[in-house]
Amino acid sequence: MTSPADNDTAKPSNFLRHVIENDLEQGNYSTRKWGGSPGDAAHHAQGMQDPARVRMRFPPEPNGYLHIGHAKSIWLNFELAKEYGGVCHLRFDDTNPEKEEQEYVDAIRDAVKWLGYDAVLADDPAHPGAPNEHVYFASNYFDFMYRAAEYLVGAGLAYVDEQSAEEIRATRGDFNTPGTDSPFRARTPEENLDRFRAMRDGQLEDGAAVLRARIDMASPNINMRDPALYRIRRATHHNTGDKWCIYPMYTFAHPIEDALEQITHSFCTLEFEDQRPFYDWLLDRLAEGGLVASPHPRQYEFARLNVTHVITSKRKLRQLVEEGHVDGWDDPRMPTLAGLRRRGYTPDALKLFCERSGVTKSGGWIDYASLEAALRDTLDPIAPRAMAVLDPVKLVITNWGELMGGDDVLDDCTAPIHPHHPEMGRRNFKLGREVWIERTDYEEVQPKGFFRLFPGNKVRLKYGHVIECTGGTKDADGNLIEVQARLVPDTKSGTPGADAIKVKGNISWVAAADALQAEVRLYERLFAAPQPGNGELLDELNRESLLTTMAYVEPSLAQAQEGAPIQFERHGYFVLDSRADSAGRRVFNRAAGMRDSWGK
Ligand code: ATP
Ligand code: MG
Repeated sequence: MTSPADNDTAKPSNFLRHVIENDLEQGNYSTRKWGGSPGDAAHHAQGMQDPARVRMRFPPEPNGYLHIGHAKSIWLNFELAKEYGGVCHLRFDDTNPEKEEQEYVDAIRDAVKWLGYDAVLADDPAHPGAPNEHVYFASNYFDFMYRAAEYLVGAGLAYVDEQSAEEIRATRGDFNTPGTDSPFRARTPEENLDRFRAMRDGQLEDGAAVLRARIDMASPNINMRDPALYRIRRATHHNTGDKWCIYPMYTFAHPIEDALEQITHSFCTLEFEDQRPFYDWLLDRLAEGGLVASPHPRQYEFARLNVTHVITSKRKLRQLVEEGHVDGWDDPRMPTLAGLRRRGYTPDALKLFCERSGVTKSGGWIDYASLEAALRDTLDPIAPRAMAVLDPVKLVITNWGELMGGDDVLDDCTAPIHPHHPEMGRRNFKLGREVWIERTDYEEVQPKGFFRLFPGNKVRLKYGHVIECTGGTKDADGNLIEVQARLVPDTKSGTPGADAIKVKGNISWVAAADALQAEVRLYERLFAAPQPGNGELLDELNRESLLTTMAYVEPSLAQAQEGAPIQFERHGYFVLDSRADSAGRRVFNRAAGMRDSWGK
């Protein structure tokens, strides 16, 4: 019999788990063999002598910072590998020489580590405790990829096409029309090898030729109509420098990367579904030639994560950064992992969100509100509490001196750091004659259902005394500049007999004497459009996505740590920013409000 607790911890089932479990049951990968002479492949197996383990990979192209969509893929691959006792590789898919930069490699490495998968990367019994053991660069396989291409040429499975890009496009056909053969398709393997080497040796201009697979120009799948494998591109690569002037195409490189690393399950998003026949064709051919082991890795597709009001395209996010619409890749409004982190999101919140969003075969949009809900659900049980006044107006307790023995006397107040975790301890602060309160906590005339400050009403200063409001002062423009109240004696919260006075209103405050001034940044959705990415990017932007206020916060926040979110009572979840403001004051970012208020 299973107890309810077992059910709670049971992992939700998904179709990828079934695939893995079936492979493990059948022992499909327990003996991998090379068909021909295992020269190259054995050399490239990179010490991965444990074929029974499942191996996944997360293969980002280092051409931008990782975003929330990547978090889904990272979470999926690393968690599945962990769950089934396997390994997950972080592989930089750096086969394109043009757009890749070291900054992105570092940022990606950092984001994966932050999500908590560094230990998993290192967790290989063959290499105990070795950090970075499973970090790979596709560009390290360029030599092998070149030899694999020569093998295909020699076997009559690839040819050098010297048509122009235009001609190749025009003769590919479309959904209704089969493609037509290139005039270069019938070249002999010897001729092709000669021309391919000429490509490699820089004897041809950029774009003058491509290496194409020879498959089927009439295939109903356009990806099988002799796809390009190599192109000529004179560009300096961040890893291989100027060694190569030809570079493999992604569709050719990716399956080879998987095979060389002995990946068992290659998970990707649905847009690659039509590439799967080529993935299998290529690895089947290379396995026949003994260049890669059998069975080779298999590709499985799942629906990409789409979140409303969020863009998940590195190219578009780069546009926002480069055109200055946001303040860098780690702007807290950005859906990048660097931005979410600075905003106050935690790895646990993101993982919970990924888990809740499910792993399916059909796409859809997840509501942004569920991202915030995951944050609140993870932080509510653990985040320390603090009081902060975001739109401050001064409250003066006019009889303070009289009752407390002097206008300068300060009273000690204390509150639990967390209401349900006494073991987390208490926070201490002062109460004095002048305190900061929220402007919206005072009304001249009581609105219906309003139980905070209005003349004649009693409220409790949370964790402090009960006061009775006597009035407010406005300036010539009608702006509230001060609120007055009188202390009701012997009503301090937590002291015996205090609860003799029942009040309906309980307001947050900080004492003028010990409050810290801080800049608080409140964020809204970066995109007003619910499903951005289809129209003109800039038209979809929410121009009011950042509101900055000068706030007063309780003194315990002097100890706030970067990356450790705090609940500001009534206001939501905040985190200390990594950078102070221009006046050197602390800056707190709001990760999310206490509840969803978008559109209200
Ligand atoms: P982008 O369009 O942002 O550049 P990409 O897919 O081209 O995204 P890659 O660096 O190639 O970016 O992605 C690495 C991995 O992350 C791939 O396996 C890809 O399928 C996955 N991935 C990217 N975006 C999402 C998403 N929104 N949901 C789930 N997985 C994603
Ligand atoms: Mg890409």
